[in-house]
Amino acid sequence: RVLPVDSETENYVRQVTGSCFSRVFPTPVESPAVVCYSESALGLIDLTGEDANSEEYTEYFSGNKILPGSETAAHCYCGHQFGIFAGQLGDGAAVYLGEVINKSKERWEIQLKGSGKTPFSRHADGRKVLRSSIREFLGSEAMHHLGIPSTRAGSCVTSETLVERDIFYNGNPVNEKCTIILRLAPTFLRFGSFEIFKLPDSESGRKGPSVGRTDVLHRMLKYTIQTFFPQIWEKHSEERQTAYLEFFKEVIRQTARLVSQWQCVGWCHGVLNTDNMSIVGLTIDYGPFGFLDRYDPDFICNSSDKGGRYAFNKQPEICQWNLRKLAQAIQGAIPLTSTEPCLSLFEEEYETHYHDKMRKKFGFLEKDGPRDIEIMEAFLDTMQQTGADFTNSFRCLSRISLPGSANFDDKLSEVQSYLLSQCCSLEEHTAAYQPKLDPRELQMIVVLMQTNPALLPAIGYSYETLARELKNAEKLEEIKQLTPQTKLEKDTVLWTKWLKSYTERLKQEVAPDLDSANQKRVEVMNANNPRFILRNYIAQNAIEAAEQGDFQEVKRVLRLLENPYCDSVELGDLSGGSKDGASAAAAAD
Ligand code: AMP
Ligand code: MG
Ligand code: MG
Repeated sequence: RVLPVDSETENYVRQVTGSCFSRVFPTPVESPAVVCYSESALGLIDLTGEDANSEEYTEYFSGNKILPGSETAAHCYCGHQFGIFAGQLGDGAAVYLGEVINKSKERWEIQLKGSGKTPFSRHADGRKVLRSSIREFLGSEAMHHLGIPSTRAGSCVTSETLVERDIFYNGNPVNEKCTIILRLAPTFLRFGSFEIFKLPDSESGRKGPSVGRTDVLHRMLKYTIQTFFPQIWEKHSEERQTAYLEFFKEVIRQTARLVSQWQCVGWCHGVLNTDNMSIVGLTIDYGPFGFLDRYDPDFICNSSDKGGRYAFNKQPEICQWNLRKLAQAIQGAIPLTSTEPCLSLFEEEYETHYHDKMRKKFGFLEKDGPRDIEIMEAFLDTMQQTGADFTNSFRCLSRISLPGSANFDDKLSEVQSYLLSQCCSLEEHTAAYQPKLDPRELQMIVVLMQTNPALLPAIGYSYETLARELKNAEKLEEIKQLTPQTKLEKDTVLWTKWLKSYTERLKQEVAPDLDSANQKRVEVMNANNPRFILRNYIAQNAIEAAEQGDFQEVKRVLRLLENPYCDSVELGDLSGGSKDGASAAAAAD
C-alpha cells in the first residue's frame, strides 16, 4: 500500500519503555533508482537481478510501498558508546520490514537503512546518503565473501530526495541524495538490545528504559535462544539458568571467533560500541570501518576516536569488555556470579582461532614448529617496521616454493623483491608516526591523570593513549635519521632476516612429498590470504563515480569483492587501475 507522506503519529521521537519494537513506517522518497544490488544477497530471499531491475522493486525497497504482509517497526536498544552508557539509542535510521522464509526454509530478517525518522532518531533525520550507503553495501558484501560472518546488503537505492549534511563546499552545506539499503540478517539483535534492562549506572545514574522488566527480559532471552541457538534450547529448556548460561557462553565463543577473523584479515570496525555487537556473532554496522593498508597495529579508522579506544589491536579486548556489559545487562535473569567467570572463555577461543587461521595464512600445515608463533609475530613486526602492505605481504608468501624445490632460489628472490616493493615510502612512514593529539590535548591528559583519572574514559582517552603518543614520538625521532636509501637498506635487512627464519621453518612442510606439499600449500594459503579487499580509495572512487551518476564502478568493485581469493579474475577488467587512477580493486600483484 502507498504510505501516508506524513507518518508523524507513529514515528515521533520518544523514550520507549517495556517494549523491544515500535511500529513505524518508512518515509517515502522521490524518484527512487537502484544503484547496485547483490545477486547473492537477494537470492537469500528468493529474489533475482531481474526483480531488482523492476520498477516495483524500487518502490518496495526505497520504502515507498510496504510489502504485502509486512508490519514495519523500529527496534529499541541501548548501548555503551566509547565506554559510557548512553541510554536509549535504537533504530534511528533503520526500519524492520519483517522476516522472509525462503525456499530452503531459512528465515531472513530484512530491514531498510536510511528510510527516515523513527521514535529513536533523536535529533537526526533517519536518512543515509549515497556515500555511506555504498560503503556499507560494498563493505558488508566484501566481508561475507571473505568468509567473515556479516549482515548482508541486498541493494542500494538512491533518490531525488535531498538532505543536508555537514560537509561544506565553498562555505555552503552540501545537499546529498537520500539513499536506502536493504539489509538482511538472521537477526539484527545486538548486545545493546539487552541493555534496555540495564540497572542504574553507578557513575551517571543512567538506566535502561525497561530496567526492572524482568518479564520482558525472560521473554527476550527465550525468543533469542529458541530461535538462534535452538540446540541449546532443546537441551536445556527445562533448566532456564543453564540455558541462559550456555547461551552466554556461546555468544562469547562466536564473538571471539568473529574478532579473530577481523584480526587475521586486517579489518578495523571503528565503532565497537555495545549497540554495534551482534548477538549472533555477525559483523554489523559499517560506518568508518577500514582495511589496513600498511600494517599498523595502532591503526584508527574513526577520525573521532583520537584516544584510539577502537584501534585495530584493541578490538579483541574491547569485544571482551562489551561481553561483560552484556552479562551486566542480563543480570536480572542470570546472576553475574554465573556469567562473569565465563568471560575467560573468550581468550581461549580467540587464541585458538586466531592461531589456526594464521597458520593457514603462513602455510604452516604439517606440524607445530616450536617457533611458529614467534615467526608469525616477527612477520607482523617486520611489516610494521618497514610499513609493508598487510594484504599484499601475506598474499605473496604462497609464491615461495618449499626448500628443495627446483625453483626455490628464484621464487624466494622474487618474493623478497616484491615484499620490498610493498614497504611504504619514507614520507608515508613519517606521516604514520605523527602525533595524533595536539600538545594542548596531551597536556590536558597529563593533568587529568594526576588529578582525576576517572574522567579520562569519559573524554575518550586512556593511559594507553599517552603511552602511544610517547612511543610514536620516539619512533619519529628514529625515522628522522633515515633517508630513502637507508630506509631501503634497513627494510632489506629486516625482510632478509625474516625470510631466512621462515624458509628454515618451511623445511618441515614436506608431506607426503614435495610436489603435493607445494600444491597444497598454495591452495590453502591462497584461500586464506585475500587478493582483493575493499581499500578506502577504491570505495572512494566508486562513490565519486556514483555521485556523478555512473554506477558501473560500484558494480565492478562488487564483482571483484565477490571473489576475493581468486587468482583468475580477469585483470583486463581493471585496466587503468592505480592508486591515483580512476578505478581498480586491490590486487596483490
Ligand atoms: P551508530 O554509531 O551508527 O551505531 O549509531 C548510533 C545511534 O545513532 C543508533 O541509535 C543509530 O540508529 C543512530 N543514528 C545513526 N545515524 C542516524 C541518522 N542518520 N538518523 C537518526 N539516527 C541515526
Ligand atoms: Mg549502530
Ligand atoms: Mg551506523
